[in-house]
Amino acid sequence: MAPSLPTAHTPYQRFQKNLAEVMDYLELSAAERKLLDRPQLIHKKEISIVRDNGKKQTFPAFRIQFNNARGPYKGGIRFHPLADEDEVKALAALMAIKTAVVGIPMGGAKGGVQCNPKELSRKELEAVSRAYVRAFADHIGTDIDVPAPDVNTTPEIMAWMRDEFEKVKEPYAPGMITGKPLAYGGSLGRDTATARGGFFILNELVKMEKLHKKKLKVAVQGFGNAGATMARFLHEAGFTVVAVSDSKGGIYNPKGVDPVRVGKTKEETGSVFGKTSGGKVITNEELLELPCDILIPAALDNVINVGNAKNIKAKYILELANGPTTPEADAILEKKGIVVIPDVLANAGGVTVSYFEWSQGRSGEQWTADDVDERLHRIMHASYKAVRDEAKKGKISHRMAAFAVGVGRIVETMRVRGWVR
Ligand code: GLU
Repeated sequence: MAPSLPTAHTPYQRFQKNLAEVMDYLELSAAERKLLDRPQLIHKKEISIVRDNGKKQTFPAFRIQFNNARGPYKGGIRFHPLADEDEVKALAALMAIKTAVVGIPMGGAKGGVQCNPKELSRKELEAVSRAYVRAFADHIGTDIDVPAPDVNTTPEIMAWMRDEFEKVKEPYAPGMITGKPLAYGGSLGRDTATARGGFFILNELVKMEKLHKKKLKVAVQGFGNAGATMARFLHEAGFTVVAVSDSKGGIYNPKGVDPVRVGKTKEETGSVFGKTSGGKVITNEELLELPCDILIPAALDNVINVGNAKNIKAKYILELANGPTTPEADAILEKKGIVVIPDVLANAGGVTVSYFEWSQGRSGEQWTADDVDERLHRIMHASYKAVRDEAKKGKISHRMAAFAVGVGRIVETMRVRGWVR
């Protein structure tokens, strides 16, 4: 047994702590451990744009390629002030495990630009997006590494990126990026896919645990693409969404909030609270500790930690965000009997439909919305079953089980390819 790592302070250390535990569980050799403990390639550049005021500004930008044993690197690009090398590295690693958990033939990578997109105009955002692609054009492509949306990046940004790539690198490359608008090589169902995948898993959980939807209270942290869509799906299916939030704060109503109305309020005012939303104004920290049955972190990492894990009242946590729970918090939640459905499974619907989009881009086919939904359902169902079975077999948490399934598949491929002997 490797000595257990000290407290994990950074996102990558937190990933390593989980990875070390699962590598012990799988009894991997020293050579296998070495190949999994660090990214294969780290690309860093400073990208610059001319601001609307005529001044030049430079931003650190990253593309980190963790593992491509199972197929081309795959993973989103986030625009966020906290997107540094360590965080992007951790997110790239999670992508490699995620694609393996859902069994799609792709590896894992992540990109980031350390900037605050809320302070940039549309024109400046476009300039950042195009500069990103020019900086990394030699390292991405349909069969090499396929980016996608992530925190603060949208279909429109994907369109600018594809357009730039087609200008500087390859005249026609629909498969070089996913999450594109429908009018420019996107797939039906990609916009709602992250939430849809999580929703399928939650329904399955409700069935397995013999719960009653109508009696379940859910709190959703984050009102971006994943969080807002999930809140809507839940509300439509009869769950009671008691709280939602965005980066500015949230609202709580034990009788339920209407996510469609909240969405309208956000469109009009820029935040989820307002007269039409109803409910009591709360902070993001308060949201996590509300009395509810299911808690869905759908924003940033590290929000459930030693500081608040003991106060969490939900019985189930479904991680639509990447890395929302620290390993120390995981230990506390496990002791309290709280079931955590981990990010690499819960939010894998997004990358799964990205893979559908990539396939359609390569073949020229166009699938119907029903095709996408059915195939996504089948994959999420099978992946959840694989994780549940592993958890039962090894008497381990769902996170460790998902890591075991994902890492196990990556190692299996590395072995057959002769990367490790
Ligand atoms: N950013 C999403 C994730 O973290 C989607 C990635 C993709 O579609 O490649 O899973």
